[in-house]
Amino acid sequence: MITKELIKDVTISILRRAETTLPKDVKQALARAYEREENEIAKVQLEAMLENVRLAEELQRPLCQDTGLPLFFVTLGSCNVELSDIESGIREGVEEATDLIPLRSNVVDPILRRGEGANIGDRMPYINYLIDSDVDGLEILVFPKGGGSENMSAFTMLMPKPEAEALKAIKNFVLETVLNAGGKPCPPTIIGVGVGGSADMAMKLAKVAVIRPAGVRNTEERIAQAEEEILEAVNNTGIGPMGLGGNTTALDVHIETASTHITSLPVAINFQCWAARQAVAKIHEDGRVEYV
Ligand code: SF4
Repeated sequence: MITKELIKDVTISILRRAETTLPKDVKQALARAYEREENEIAKVQLEAMLENVRLAEELQRPLCQDTGLPLFFVTLGSCNVELSDIESGIREGVEEATDLIPLRSNVVDPILRRGEGANIGDRMPYINYLIDSDVDGLEILVFPKGGGSENMSAFTMLMPKPEAEALKAIKNFVLETVLNAGGKPCPPTIIGVGVGGSADMAMKLAKVAVIRPAGVRNTEERIAQAEEEILEAVNNTGIGPMGLGGNTTALDVHIETASTHITSLPVAINFQCWAARQAVAKIHEDGRVEYV
């Protein structure tokens, strides 16, 4: 049975895991970048990141002083659980985890700049709901999002164009945004690009894009090719790790698309910093928990 208490305990566990242990795909991408990098300063930066990752895991300490904004994706499958139990289980889990792990109190009122001190607040933690009838129970993905990378998010409404021109315009917008951002999103980043839908949907798609594991391409061939081309162009900017120069500005570029209005071409960009934290748990209908 899935209870509020179980959801709270799982929230604490996945937050701890996300904050202290980078996903394997990101660790491998950082290690590959270190091997490939030719710029000496960039190599030192990447080496320091890899050592940071190793120590955080060994000592079970957060990877970065910025422990992020508590963002969640909850996939609801076939299960009998009250939405209010999910909301309050996650909220209480975040509150307790802030004290236990511990986490920095990042959540504040946007105008008063004051918070409750436990990473909870108005509509925070932010929970996105997805429905998937193939899932037994529910899945909770936590995604603590660093402020430096989130602050460099960008959005534009491009003029609709024929395919080749549209892809070129999207690429130019990404490059312009990356150049403006420089070292601020703590590169090497994973760059999420949301194309299509409505304005808010494009932003959501960009966020979904950064969650995709590094090295996994869009299933549509022409979009996958655009991801490769943009990644190469971003790494040719020379911004490098932490903006100090080098060949590794991004670990990957992911594009997610949705159908849009005939007069629109919305494009949103979301950066994920090198501390690309996330963790997932599946809670089965009978109460069993699997950490993925
Ligand atoms: S953007 Fe990421 S790496 Fe940079 S300070 Fe924030 S959490 Fe840390």
